[in-house]
Amino acid sequence: MYNKKTVEDIEVKGKKVLARCDFNVPLDGKTITDAKRIREALPTIKYLSDNGAKVILCSHLGRPKGEFNPKYSLAPVAEKLSELLGKPVVFANDVIGEDAKTKAAALKDGDVMLIENVRYHKEEEKNDPEFAKELASLAEIYVNDAFGTAHRAHASTEGVSHYLPSVCGYLIQKEISIMGGALTQPKHPFVAILGGAKVSDKIGVINNLIEKVDTLIIGGAMAYTFHKANNYSIGDSLCEDDKIELAKELMAKAKAKGVNLLLPVDNRAGDKYDPDCNFLLVNSDNIPDGYMGLDIGPATEKIFADAIKGAATVIWNGPMGVSEWEKFASGTRSVAQAVADSGAISIIGGGDSAAAIEKLGFADKVTHISTGGGASLEFLEGLVLPGIACLQDK
Ligand code: AMP
Repeated sequence: MYNKKTVEDIEVKGKKVLARCDFNVPLDGKTITDAKRIREALPTIKYLSDNGAKVILCSHLGRPKGEFNPKYSLAPVAEKLSELLGKPVVFANDVIGEDAKTKAAALKDGDVMLIENVRYHKEEEKNDPEFAKELASLAEIYVNDAFGTAHRAHASTEGVSHYLPSVCGYLIQKEISIMGGALTQPKHPFVAILGGAKVSDKIGVINNLIEKVDTLIIGGAMAYTFHKANNYSIGDSLCEDDKIELAKELMAKAKAKGVNLLLPVDNRAGDKYDPDCNFLLVNSDNIPDGYMGLDIGPATEKIFADAIKGAATVIWNGPMGVSEWEKFASGTRSVAQAVADSGAISIIGGGDSAAAIEKLGFADKVTHISTGGGASLEFLEGLVLPGIACLQDK
């Protein structure tokens, strides 16, 4: 898959290094409510600074739609970063303007600087070559460590690599070595667990993983499209009618390849899509009208947990039910528990599944929690990620 040069494969001492991070943090006004993404970027920033680079960091934050907007300023990130690094972080009020250029030129070895939100320029998302060239002219080396945006070919994630020697940081390196390793040389039995809202969002992942896994577990709202394809009564459960044929094809493909495809056998259902709905435990082939499946049931939890127990590699993406609501969080929790207890190489692909693992305090019991939702899905689909493909091979 990918075998890319890292920050350790290039001489950074005395060099200006443009490092693309993912500082797209949640903000309440100017207060950062979760600094996880900043913390995750620290190993690469520290390595560069400790090894004498002049570090110029860049990132996007939110969707300012190509215009300057103080609501999306990275200034609070510079402050937090300085606190976490225990040293000053220079902040430039623009991206490729006078402030950024003057401050970049004045950096000394080991200094760290952050420029403003790259999405203040509409050219960023268009991957405009002139803008990318200007951005690249701030530095002599490019480091991409923003896995969360690596599936986008933007100026700061791909464009700059056309003008500078380009390598990856530790975050991207970890993502590609662990996820890439599991996809190319998985230890068997290999179990994939897919859940979440829509089959249509996960078709690519199912198609790619069905070629590699021994067991494919499908939960979440997605499962009901498969149940409908099997002529089960699914009541008012979510169903993508235009994907029923596809669900049939995927089931046939799993059968032909000898993949053990597991679907829920029972469900926790509600009489409306509401955390305070009336609750019913029902078998999968007979969900009454007026009820919708909102989580897998206890018998299913046991079947899924048994399959996960025997795994050597596990990949999990998507909740088993509406895990945001306590009444329907049990299935997701029990899968999280089974993954944590499995002792397998375990990879959690972003979003709700990562949140469930973290909430239960299992983060250190799994091998890897991916830092990118969309990017990790595209990776699992086997698609080329432009922000990684553009980096130098080892
Ligand atoms: P995704 O972003 O595709 O991973 O989907 C996550 C969303 O799927 C969460 O917001 C869940 O509430 C939702 N979800 C999971 N299971 C169900 C279900 N049985 N019915 C409705 N929504 C569900």
